[in-house]
Amino acid sequence: MMIKTNMHIHSKYSWDSKMELEDIAKILIENNIRYATITDHVEFDREDMMYIRRKFSERDYEIDHLNEKHQGKLTLLKGVEISEPHLYPKQVEELANIFPFDFIMGSIHNIPNLKTSENKRYVTYLYYREILKMIESSSVDVIGHIDYINRYYKEDFSEYNQVKEVLDAVKENGKIIEINTSAERRAQLNLFPSIDKICRYKLVGDYVTIGSDAHRLPEVPDNLEQAEYLCEEIGLKPVIFEKRKKIVL
Ligand SMILES: [Zn+2]
Ligand SMILES: [Zn+2]
Repeated sequence: MMIKTNMHIHSKYSWDSKMELEDIAKILIENNIRYATITDHVEFDREDMMYIRRKFSERDYEIDHLNEKHQGKLTLLKGVEISEPHLYPKQVEELANIFPFDFIMGSIHNIPNLKTSENKRYVTYLYYREILKMIESSSVDVIGHIDYINRYYKEDFSEYNQVKEVLDAVKENGKIIEINTSAERRAQLNLFPSIDKICRYKLVGDYVTIGSDAHRLPEVPDNLEQAEYLCEEIGLKPVIFEKRKKIVL
């Protein structure tokens, strides 16, 4: 039996979630999820450093308390999901120096030309260019929800060579990808990235993180089994991160 993990959860310390850490811990224990990472958003285009520092100080204090309380049943890890980290290298470095994060995930949320262009192939191309820049010039551990653009398109307009270039770069830059299970509820698609891309990734990488990207309590265990089965079937190993070191369970 695979040890259950969820490496992508947003608490009330994210602008778009109201979940209390205490309630998240409870639902994780109910679902036998042994290790979970709270990956609250950092958006350097709208949050200043003072605000960010204050929220993580508060949050990490709460996490320490919950880990003591649930010792042996649940370990909550301290993570962050940074939007477009390659655009804010100095801030990312400063933040990583101040807080002993277990896990830093980088994600593209701002998709160039999404609102202004009708050309879905072209916008998808731009989206993949942006992922590539993030992989090549940021110090994140994991690349979050590749294919997130399909949340808007509900269909895949990527091309094989774009995907190959991105996945090869993940490998070359010593990073890994996330399997994000929110695709079904957000886009009626199987996973982010899609199953065929995850299989393609297996040619260059052995490790992934699995996360539900939960913003509400019922979403915490959402669809994690599908990702676990797929990993077992194709031989990918789900990992956790502690102090930014990959750990195979
Ligand atoms: Zn995200
Ligand atoms: Zn997220």
